Amino acid sequence: MKPRIRILSTGGTLGMLPGEPGTLAPSAVSDNVLQYMRGLEAEVELSAEGLWNLDSSDMGPEHWTRLAEAIAARLDDVDGLVVLHGTDTMAWTAAALSFALRGLPKAVVLTGAQRPIAWVRTDARNNVVHSALCAGMAIPEVTVFFGRWLFRGNRVTKTSIQSYEAFESPNCPPILEMGVEVQAGEVPRAAQGPFVVDARFDSRVAVLPVVPGSDGATLDQAVAAGMRGVVVQGFGAGNMPQRGWPQAIARATNAGVAVVVHSQCLRGHVQLGSYEGGRAALDAGGMSAAWMTLEAATVKLMHGLGRGLEGAALAEFYTTDLVGEGA
Ligand code: ASP
Repeated sequence: MKPRIRILSTGGTLGMLPGEPGTLAPSAVSDNVLQYMRGLEAEVELSAEGLWNLDSSDMGPEHWTRLAEAIAARLDDVDGLVVLHGTDTMAWTAAALSFALRGLPKAVVLTGAQRPIAWVRTDARNNVVHSALCAGMAIPEVTVFFGRWLFRGNRVTKTSIQSYEAFESPNCPPILEMGVEVQAGEVPRAAQGPFVVDARFDSRVAVLPVVPGSDGATLDQAVAAGMRGVVVQGFGAGNMPQRGWPQAIARATNAGVAVVVHSQCLRGHVQLGSYEGGRAALDAGGMSAAWMTLEAATVKLMHGLGRGLEGAALAEFYTTDLVGEGA
């Protein structure tokens, strides 16, 4: 029996066509991708559906919620799902879905393209074909297929604007490499448990880079602006100037605003005990992003706050590895 795979389209370059001179704009192609997939029906039983048709920069937490609910509503009728998505925020949506669909019993593969599917020279067909095949392989988690790799969805980040290999998974090997042969990586299965759909996200979360010589005033401003959570991107292992930043973190946490410390580095993990600045941030109530990507660290904070967690309960939730995100 061929696996039953449903394609859910949300837009992105894959389905775009030229709009204003020099720009690409969403088109009806997005809803008609099956016509470009000839031959794939020999391997999988394919169906497709357009959910919406947006540049992914225009997607946000409300779309993550709707998408999670749409996926959950279709799971019983398929063996796997492929979500067509713009590349710009695909890593964010993949992270959000991984938290919203804990214990996912089937495969959900996100993919997109750097060039439209309607163009002769396109990476879209390669990405969609491989995503559909991966979705039929009973890998029950949210993943991203791009270029030649199937990645854990909450571990990817977009690292190239022009390359066909636009995504990397800096701290977790690919689940599969789809070359001439299919090679499996050493990726431990994400924690399994009962399937729970909880797609609540609080969008009042900011990301603030630490700049040399800064004193945390931007964090005070974020708190004053009504943010409920802030991800501070420190240096290296989570370090920051000792004058100003730890004090601002203490003011924020005392005001009930959750603070996570991330890093400006792509590889490696945050270790707040490594240097005095990071240690002071930890003592002030900052939570470590550990191995998480910036996208996963931020979305997990949005999710924890969306679930109504705060204080010690939020810290416990945040620092527990829930779906292989690397907390
Ligand atoms: N701007 C597009 C989007 O994210 C880029 C792409 O799909 O590659 O929707």
